[in-house]
Amino acid sequence: MDLVIRNVKLIDGTGASAISEVSVEVTGSAISWIGSESSRPKRTVHQEDINGQGLTLIPGMIDCHEHFTGDGGTDVMDRLLNDTAEEFTLKAVGNCRRSLMSGVTTARDVGARFGVNINIAKQTAAGAVFGPRIIASGEWFQYPGTWPAGLTRTTETPEELLLGIQDMIQRGAGLIKVGATGFRPDGAQFPSMSREALDAAVRAAHDAGLKIAAHCHGFEGTLLAVEAGIDSIEHGTYVDEPTVRLMAEKGTYMVPTMSTWDARERLAIQAGLSKDQMADVYDRKENSIASFKRALQAGVIIATGTDAGGSPARHGFVAREIELMVDNGMTPQAALEASTRVASELLGVQEQVGTIEVGKQADMVLIDGDPHSDIGALKNIWAVFQGGRRVR
Ligand SMILES: [Zn+2]
Repeated sequence: MDLVIRNVKLIDGTGASAISEVSVEVTGSAISWIGSESSRPKRTVHQEDINGQGLTLIPGMIDCHEHFTGDGGTDVMDRLLNDTAEEFTLKAVGNCRRSLMSGVTTARDVGARFGVNINIAKQTAAGAVFGPRIIASGEWFQYPGTWPAGLTRTTETPEELLLGIQDMIQRGAGLIKVGATGFRPDGAQFPSMSREALDAAVRAAHDAGLKIAAHCHGFEGTLLAVEAGIDSIEHGTYVDEPTVRLMAEKGTYMVPTMSTWDARERLAIQAGLSKDQMADVYDRKENSIASFKRALQAGVIIATGTDAGGSPARHGFVAREIELMVDNGMTPQAALEASTRVASELLGVQEQVGTIEVGKQADMVLIDGDPHSDIGALKNIWAVFQGGRRVR
């Protein structure tokens, strides 16, 4: 099916300003023509014809941190530990749909028990499951004593870690994920992998042509991960000045996942918890915001991720994450680019998606309103296109 969207406001994600009264044509799965409606050549082929007046067209959004196998909410840890592979898979089918409907046309799944996210990624690519294009890590890796057993694949030595990484690569992982920090029962964060192990993991992932992401909450472990050459720091709740400077210098991405504490805070308020009981929620929130601002100031590359399913955050609310990025100092344009082009670069799919340009896959979202003047407009989705096909 060929398609034209006429007279729309276009935010193409390249870094250019928005332009009004533009028409965008799609042939097959790819964008084939962009220009003013008056200069658009007459076509004899049948086109699906959409009047874009009053709407804004943006690239399909990219969530760099999801766990499709989890629903989020209050029982997230319990379910992630106790669900069967079948339950994970069935939940993922629903969560993939929710995510795509919210305008997320590409996503990274950064960890699932039994590595079922790799199968889900294959099935969405095959069209058997309705969902974003998914790049999946398989299981993610930790050292003993740092996470509840079963949530991650626990390895004891760098050798064991390398065997695990090779296993994920053979099964078809599109990235590798490790945990660089763990937490003690009292909540204290500590570096959970040695520099030697991180170095070995980075080398193994890069030798296979894959990126490597690290779960990071503590100061020390985050710095170690950045020094070892990890491509993206996930969460980055506690990053200090020297670390953000090094990240900016090395081009290390930060995926802030502010939806994690935002969702937790809302649940805690609903449950009627006291200020005291909520102290650790506020500690997370304050540190996460301070670290995000520090990274922004230092020029660290920021890419959007919600941690839906791996935290109380739920799938389908990427717009809330982008709003939090704007609330805490990013311009709407920069936050949108962090959710499209910049994210596509982190995922290594920038040749196919991430911007609205001729030749790219037609992954696009039509918004009722203008997200550059009001980022909340991202919640008003009127249409979602994936590979030229209208899916909403
Ligand atoms: Zn996560």
